[in-house]
Amino acid sequence: MANNYYPKLTMSKEMINISLANPRGFCAGVERAILIVEKTLEKYGAPIYVHHEVVHNKFVINELKEKGVIFVESLKEIPNSSHVIFSAHGVSKAIVKESNKFNLISIDATCPLVTKVHREVNKLSNDEYTIIMIGHKGHPEVEGTMGQIEKNSLTNQIHLVENIEDVNKLKVSNPNKISYVSQTTLSIDDTKKIIDALKNKYPLIVGPKSNDICYATQNRQEAVKQMFSQHDLVFVVGSKNSSNSNRLLDMVKDKNIDAILIDDMTQFQSKWIKNKKSIGITAGASAPEILVQRLIQKIKKITEVSISEIKGIQETTVFKLPKI
Ligand code: SF4
Repeated sequence: MANNYYPKLTMSKEMINISLANPRGFCAGVERAILIVEKTLEKYGAPIYVHHEVVHNKFVINELKEKGVIFVESLKEIPNSSHVIFSAHGVSKAIVKESNKFNLISIDATCPLVTKVHREVNKLSNDEYTIIMIGHKGHPEVEGTMGQIEKNSLTNQIHLVENIEDVNKLKVSNPNKISYVSQTTLSIDDTKKIIDALKNKYPLIVGPKSNDICYATQNRQEAVKQMFSQHDLVFVVGSKNSSNSNRLLDMVKDKNIDAILIDDMTQFQSKWIKNKKSIGITAGASAPEILVQRLIQKIKKITEVSISEIKGIQETTVFKLPKI
């Protein structure tokens, strides 16, 4: 079927400037998690079970499925004594207990920066603090972090707040012994506002020295800010369930700049780039560079492009692998 835009744009040969955010794409926690799955497959052979999507990216998940990885949401789906990998988002204590009950051999691909938040929660709980978790309801990282406090615990309380309205509604039994932690992939600016509201309501509240938002989330958010003044469209390469990709998307949209989240290049529509002169491309921490390159190829098929990399922070973080 004829495409209304494709021939017109091809003939015009207008040059589109594409600039690429830096840093973008895979972070150290995602690289580590994928490597853990690949090494486990190499050592023990297929099938290997992974609790939840190891990272939130459709392309990565489909590639691993083809290699023999089975992703499950419940450990009951796994035959006894099999290997199970816990995803980069981390798991609750209840999941760890359940895996022991089923004699599963667990390998932990939780990002070390999420594990750090788990440690904070456990310490605060041991010190009998009420804990406020800032995060998105239902996100596996939030479930894993909140699940560090066992549900039957009588002395400890953990509450979730997603926004300032939740802070306003919050009621805690001891406002003098209260603390907060956060999901690692939130918007820096929105989280700061929530922390300020918490501090305003509970002046004695304590929190981490620096916030819990990870370096990769912060760096990608800083990098996308550089696109605000020069671009009339920004593509965020990432999947719909990727928290940090969605935060990048929100940031661009908040500036009234067109923004599109894309992880499947077959969905690309040439009308998106009609009349655009300057396009930015960034990618969430779980999106592989190959998808960015495929997106560029799609645009190149339609029009001439000039490509530049925006200078940004060079990331050098590497996390050690666990014993497999
Ligand atoms: Fe770890 Fe941050 Fe990457 Fe999540 S986004 S895996 S917390 S480094």
